[in-house]
Amino acid sequence: MTIKTDEISLPILLSRNIKIYIKRLDLMHPYVSGNKWFKLKHNFSEAVVNGYNKILTFGGAYSNHIFSTAYLAKELGLQSIGVIRGEEIIPKNYTLNFAENCNMKLHYLNRDDFRDRETERVINFLKDKFGDFYLMPLGGNNLNSLKGGEEIIEQDDRYDFICSSIGTGSTFSSITNASQQNQNILGFPAIRMNNNSKTYQFIKNATNKNNWKLIFHYDFGGFAKYDKNLINFIHKFYEETKIPLDIIYTAKMVYGVIDMVKKNMFTRNSKILLIHTGGLQGNIGFNERFSMKLPIS
Ligand SMILES: *Cc1c(COP(=O)(O)O)cnc(C)c1O
Repeated sequence: MTIKTDEISLPILLSRNIKIYIKRLDLMHPYVSGNKWFKLKHNFSEAVVNGYNKILTFGGAYSNHIFSTAYLAKELGLQSIGVIRGEEIIPKNYTLNFAENCNMKLHYLNRDDFRDRETERVINFLKDKFGDFYLMPLGGNNLNSLKGGEEIIEQDDRYDFICSSIGTGSTFSSITNASQQNQNILGFPAIRMNNNSKTYQFIKNATNKNNWKLIFHYDFGGFAKYDKNLINFIHKFYEETKIPLDIIYTAKMVYGVIDMVKKNMFTRNSKILLIHTGGLQGNIGFNERFSMKLPIS
């Protein structure tokens, strides 16, 4: 599969003689967009090959992972169960409404149980309630998702830098593993973290190269946090490029890269590839909740 790659043209890039390209995973599919397709595909085939007719996974109320899992399960004729962090909120937001329309069963766990979601206690509780199921961890993260993520990178060796947003670090680790040793892979955490965080350890263990680096300055305070600068940036970038960015992940990464260009942190003539990991359904939830007008396509 070839994925569309756009060149971004902005005056700042011309003046630095830097080329930025963006790989549009967001355009791959209307519902299973972005990195989630790559993270889910081998999980679903493992479930099917092993004869499961039910798949259970975890996520927040705005989760792209829940959204994509619900849709894919419906398409493949599997039952799906979404275990959601926190209390049920009525009316349901766009994400959970969509999931339910795909016949996903939703089950809410309080924050303590959600944190313990992979303990025997909670798994047994879920098995009693829903019967046997294929268990996909939060974000789909396991060896299957790591393997699938490597397919995001196809003959992309003409780029000096490849940049990706980080949630759990699975996609970033896959991209690193599929990269060439002489490329620089930059990760932009959308969550609050540092060199001592679990996510950092995860990436260290999951990667088989040392050509990567994390840039911590662009988390905007943590997961799903944002400020006026980020919102203005999304609108301005959309005006100039017609490319929509999701406020949770890709916007922070692209903001960071452009800011680093401004600060001359990339050498002249650099070729930079950004991975647009999708997630635009999340903007719909933000628009609903905070009366924003973030672009969604
Ligand atoms: C899930 C997601 C990510 C994070 O991917 P990880 O593999 O968890 O790091 C990044 N961008 C978007 C749009 C996502 O939906």
